[in-house]
Amino acid sequence: MTEKKKIRYCTECKREAMKFIPSVVTIGEFGLYLCEKHFIEWFEHWVEKTIEEFHMFDRDGPVLVALSGGKDSMVLWYVLNKLGYKAEGFHLNLGIGETSEQAQQKVLELGQIIGKEPFIINITKEIGASIPDIAKIFLSPACSICGRIKRYFFNRIARLQGFKVVATGHNLDDEAGSLLFNLINWNEKYLIRKYPVLKEDTKLGLPRKVKPLTLMSEDRILLYAQLNNIPFSSEPCPLGQDAKLHIYKDILNRVEPRTKGVKRNFYLRFIRKYQRLFQSLAVEKQTTMQKCQICDEPSPSQVCLVCKIKLAVQDARQKEDKNDTHH
Ligand SMILES: [Zn+2]
Ligand SMILES: [Zn+2]
Repeated sequence: MTEKKKIRYCTECKREAMKFIPSVVTIGEFGLYLCEKHFIEWFEHWVEKTIEEFHMFDRDGPVLVALSGGKDSMVLWYVLNKLGYKAEGFHLNLGIGETSEQAQQKVLELGQIIGKEPFIINITKEIGASIPDIAKIFLSPACSICGRIKRYFFNRIARLQGFKVVATGHNLDDEAGSLLFNLINWNEKYLIRKYPVLKEDTKLGLPRKVKPLTLMSEDRILLYAQLNNIPFSSEPCPLGQDAKLHIYKDILNRVEPRTKGVKRNFYLRFIRKYQRLFQSLAVEKQTTMQKCQICDEPSPSQVCLVCKIKLAVQDARQKEDKNDTHH
């Protein structure tokens, strides 16, 4: 299988007089071949355009970037700073052994490169137990608990530090894949909210949530990270991935080579046009959210999930101690 690849030259460089530089990437849906320099320019141009089209934020207000340590969020923090936005980083150490230590290390490394110190919170210190321990105590899947704990801390740090906007690194593969999944299953509840911007709730003190990389596919984000030497952790979570979503991402990536740009068009036309239809289905639901009596964060019940977890962990620890003294 030694298929000789034809050398393609950068479309942009060819336009500049007498320069012929080999391309590093093909942007199939726009018929572009781009060299390193022009790919970086193209990438940054589209991130900025996405932020503007969907009115995510502007250069005046600070944005809090949720950093997992993976390529998407790390590229996001880097590119927002490069584009002149006031982007600060926030990382949550989940206490999942080596994986979490490595992720935090990479976040600190990137902070040094861009000259910013990220906010870091360690779940084990904050709650008294790591994600795997909490999942054991609650007898529930780690992923669902982890997601809810993450949301809690992003909201809390944003509120305490005065950020009105929180940005996450969700990419086109994530968004198009979950759109396909939710459409096939007619999950109205999710389709109503499926949009790269989730409005703030000033009454409850919830920040706006935005996804500036929503139109960038995973492979292009990876290439951008490599070309700019952005450190990131490539360790997958040892507790497992969302297998369901993976299948739908895979379907779109199989169709993509035959129909160039199908992934992007599928998702973009939804958010530009059809999402409105689903929004009109939303029944104005009575807000039953209140403030948690312990920590003051929004919660559907008197005590929020994270405070309940803290109490349950304390309880489990006390029982353990009692058992230890009996032996
Ligand atoms: Zn070029
Ligand atoms: Zn609480």
